[in-house]
Amino acid sequence: MTERDATVRPDRRAELAAGLGRVRARIADACAAAGRDRSAVTMIAVTKTYPAGDVIALAGLGVTDVGENRDQEAAGKAAEVAAAGLRPRWHFIGQLQRNKCRSVVRYADVVHSVDSVRLAGALATAAAARDRPVEALAQVSIDGDPARGGALPGSADPDRGLGPVTGALAAAEGLRFAGLMAVAPLGWEPERAFARLAEVAAAVRADHPAATALSAGMSGDLEIAIRYGATHVRVGSALLGMRPTLG
Ligand SMILES: *Cc1c(COP(=O)(O)O)cnc(C)c1O
Repeated sequence: MTERDATVRPDRRAELAAGLGRVRARIADACAAAGRDRSAVTMIAVTKTYPAGDVIALAGLGVTDVGENRDQEAAGKAAEVAAAGLRPRWHFIGQLQRNKCRSVVRYADVVHSVDSVRLAGALATAAAARDRPVEALAQVSIDGDPARGGALPGSADPDRGLGPVTGALAAAEGLRFAGLMAVAPLGWEPERAFARLAEVAAAVRADHPAATALSAGMSGDLEIAIRYGATHVRVGSALLGMRPTLG
């Protein structure tokens, strides 16, 4: 890393400031419309595909929470940001392989994408090496398609069922079971997806009252997610610009 790598040009900084202003206004308006306190919703800046300099600039603009979806990219970026003397909260939001858990717990404060009992076990084992717990969210499959990511609500499957996954997270030492995460499935109206997620979240909270986090909503649907109780919105393109490739 050179000094230059971690610095952004003034025009990029202005672009990020403008994006941040727009997204913050959208979140504030959505909270007001839903009758929710603005402080109930945390914005996670999803910086995947963008350089560490953008994270550093965003942190300078007051962003406290950053999301990444690939371990290799995130690990290097977190190290560069730390070398600049900054320590935002890193959220790992992407599909996670068990053999990556050991790396992820070195920088991530929160892992949103736990969708199997086996993955919960691997994350717990990796987290045992840390001095403070990793916050873990169970990723929910809203459409129940077992071929895609997410634990399955109402399923008794001992590895992929949401009940077994939340039970494993709650029981694991080294983890704090914080709540649920979901992505609206392609082809679903966000209203329908997030209404369904809210029902699932209410049922999970009946068993796990401290698991209050609900990570839902992205650039295109954050208002609807906030209406249905999101506590964390994961915002990439509306903040940083369109990514060159899907990631
Ligand atoms: C990329 C990504 C986001 C951000 O998506 P945008 O549409 O760019 O806001 C949110 N959540 C997950 C899981 C992602 O992978």
